[in-house]
Amino acid sequence: MDEKKIKIPQGEPELITKVGSLQELLEKASGVRAVLDYDQEDSGLAENIPFPFLALVGQKQMKLSLALSLLNPNLDGVLLIGPRGTGKSTAVRSLTDLLPDVRRSLCYYGCLEEEVESGGIDAVCPDCAKKFGQGDPLSRLEKVRLVELPLNATLEDVVGGLDPRAKANSRQQLKRGILSRADRNLLYVDEVNLLNDQIVDAILDAAAQGQYTVRRGSMSATYRSNFALIGSMNPEEGHLRPQIMDRFGLRVLVKGLESKEDRLEAYQRTRSYKENKRAFVAQYAHDTRLFRDEIQASREKISQVDLPDEIAQTGLELIEDLELDSLRSEITLFEAARAHAAADAREQVNLDDLRIVAPMALRLRRSSFIEQYIADQSSETELLENAINKLIPPQDLKKED
Ligand SMILES: [Zn+2]
Repeated sequence: MDEKKIKIPQGEPELITKVGSLQELLEKASGVRAVLDYDQEDSGLAENIPFPFLALVGQKQMKLSLALSLLNPNLDGVLLIGPRGTGKSTAVRSLTDLLPDVRRSLCYYGCLEEEVESGGIDAVCPDCAKKFGQGDPLSRLEKVRLVELPLNATLEDVVGGLDPRAKANSRQQLKRGILSRADRNLLYVDEVNLLNDQIVDAILDAAAQGQYTVRRGSMSATYRSNFALIGSMNPEEGHLRPQIMDRFGLRVLVKGLESKEDRLEAYQRTRSYKENKRAFVAQYAHDTRLFRDEIQASREKISQVDLPDEIAQTGLELIEDLELDSLRSEITLFEAARAHAAADAREQVNLDDLRIVAPMALRLRRSSFIEQYIADQSSETELLENAINKLIPPQDLKKED
């Protein structure tokens, strides 16, 4: 090990040699510590090198939910709910290195070959119809992107509007907004409960239709906007409207790490990462690549995963027992179960798949739950004070100054 390489936290390296399934990798992921070849190509952007997903300690539910939503776009994303400092946004941003490939349109309006195949030549814009006729490609294979919608975005930023540079180019007078750029991508909103209502409405409209129309004066444009929504929120800071809450496929309550070992491990990894991001990421590069390939492969197989009738019946009974009205309950439950089966390289959903994904798929389908969650936090100050007073009694403090 040469000196320039990062200091490895104590403990035996646990090298993944064979990947049986994505689940297996996820299972082992938090123990990965092997130093692997530093691949220059995979070092990421100098400005923004996300923490490796596989280096996240613990938080199995959070990691599983994010992995499932990557491999099944029909899941409609994930909402991570928990206090500050529990690694929610770090985890979401760490997906950057795991993103699978998707067909991406070369056209301003997002036309794709598959639309001509299913809807005929009129399904695409005139330019693309011409290109298609000449046998030119309308799309190319590209990585899914993680598009972030910042809290300070204006409605204009989100839906698009008049392009200030348009005078130079009379054909492009409307500029695309964040929702259009999120098409076939992941749309991430941190602190989603603090977004203003107008923007929430725009997201809900686009999500419901898979497209939206912008009108400015005599101009209008319709943009495709089919995205998986990923949100994170601290429920102590504000409510989330029920309509947008319902829009998220999976919901995970994220808590702080419980064991002292995990907390120490997480601290050490964070420290190593901050000391030398490239070197830290390089340690995980090999396994990250394997994991990404597993996600891609599972994603391609998901359409072949079958949901047997008797399993579907059990799922519906569960939803009936819980008295959940939203139709999204079963959509999410079944799509998540199919993703889970695909991750395990199976072509049939079984009861285990249902059991494992049900809490994420069915949690918080009733809005009263959030209020209870907030009520549970209110005694925390008292708890904190008690713990501090017990370990560090006030009389032991030296007076400062
Ligand atoms: Zn087009």
